Amino acid sequence: MTAKPKVAALEGWFTLDEQAPQLLGSRCKTCATVYFPKQTSFCRNPACEGTEFEEAPLSRRGRVWSCTNASYQPPEPFVAPDPFVPFTIAAVELEAERMVVLGQVVAGVEVTDLKVGQEMELVLDTLYTDDESEKMIWKWKPVA
Ligand SMILES: [Zn+2]
Repeated sequence: MTAKPKVAALEGWFTLDEQAPQLLGSRCKTCATVYFPKQTSFCRNPACEGTEFEEAPLSRRGRVWSCTNASYQPPEPFVAPDPFVPFTIAAVELEAERMVVLGQVVAGVEVTDLKVGQEMELVLDTLYTDDESEKMIWKWKPVA
């Protein structure tokens, strides 16, 4: 059996570089504020009238700001395996971009394993597999 191609579960939200994946945000060309998910129509900075954006790969590491566990099926655009398996969610603060990015934490890591301020890095994992391909999503993993 041949391996199925790996594709992004959310097209254009992150790179598919398995060694060093990066989330893809957008940077306002006027005030340099970075947004994730991508902002493409207008800048949310109230002091800025920028309407042009460029793609901005985000930092691969950040620190835990908060975490929780999802013991219920999350809303779209999150797609969960069926049957649903509870998982940990971390809000990770990216220092350079000064933003918090939510993500599922890799399997086996419980809320009680994480501490606020702990360093995390971005990894790719399989969200689910269908007939055509393996759908990939980003996850946060504690830095060893
Ligand atoms: Zn702006």
